[in-house]
Amino acid sequence: MRICVIGLGQMGGNMALTLQAAGFDVAGSDLFESARQRLAKRGLPVIAPDELPPSDVYLLSLPTSAQVREVVETSPGLLGLAPKGSVIVDTSTSDPVISRELAAKVQAAGLEWLDAPVSGGPKGAATGKLGMLLGGEAATIECLAPMLEAMSARYTHVGGPGSGHVVKLANNYLCAAHLLTTAEAVAMAARAGVDPAACLAGLNSGSGRSAVSEVNFPEWILSGRFDSGFTTGLMRKDLRLARDAAKRLDMPPGLLDAVVEAWHADPEHLADGDDFNRIAGALLAAATPTEETAP
Ligand code: NAD
Repeated sequence: MRICVIGLGQMGGNMALTLQAAGFDVAGSDLFESARQRLAKRGLPVIAPDELPPSDVYLLSLPTSAQVREVVETSPGLLGLAPKGSVIVDTSTSDPVISRELAAKVQAAGLEWLDAPVSGGPKGAATGKLGMLLGGEAATIECLAPMLEAMSARYTHVGGPGSGHVVKLANNYLCAAHLLTTAEAVAMAARAGVDPAACLAGLNSGSGRSAVSEVNFPEWILSGRFDSGFTTGLMRKDLRLARDAAKRLDMPPGLLDAVVEAWHADPEHLADGDDFNRIAGALLAAATPTEETAP
């Protein structure tokens, strides 16, 4: 299987190297020379965007749907240059409405489409332990099974084209909300004199636990490392997409608007380039007991 990975950033670069190590015939491309050079130094064959080779799979890992549309429709325009029967796999966290529109165009051009957004960060991409949510035809997934198995610890087929991206937005909304609620809960306990690590251990043995309390807090927040590889800017993008999807679907008002607002509230102190776990770190720091508040 010849795989061309387009977008060699934190996720795409690591996915390309993982697939290469698993024995696939992989080439990588990125708009930026610096990204191409970084991967070339690690042994990946790289090509300029206007020289993409014929491939069985074009695996996209791009910032937003705007770049996915560009790569599919215009620059370099996979619709015109990909061989018939090849598959476009979009692992980016994209707008489901645009994914459905692009999937229809791709299928009309004799190609196949799969949306396959991922969880697990750069580390999951580098170790082949991603979680993947798949939107597309069962037959396409069956053909790609060896590639999907090399990239992921688990993949889940959730429906037709666009469905993977819908569920990814739902997942990231929950993750963003859990960062706020868990930070508030741990801060409340800290103010009442309970050590945050002890509080976390308690929460993780109870029904309030989540991936955020089990993984993010120990690994990136309480450790002070804040080096998950996922930025605040990407989470803000995902939340805006979730809010837009809810609006289009006439959802009754819920917590989503408040979560979106909280994530966009302080762009000066929480920049788009900051690690996304910083929001919980800031809430915890603000709530640290002072001499007056310590019990
Ligand atoms: P990134 O910014 O590190 O990488 C994106 C890459 O795409 C960059 O190298 C950029 O140069 C390249 N690019 C941009 N426009 C291009 C174009 N027109 N043609 C070719 N290359 C182009 O981003 P990332 O962190 O790797 O995330 C990629 C996608 O995966 C995003 O949609 C993100 O929301 C999603 N995601 C990221 C993580 C994470 O932990 N970083 C986790 C899950 C999902």
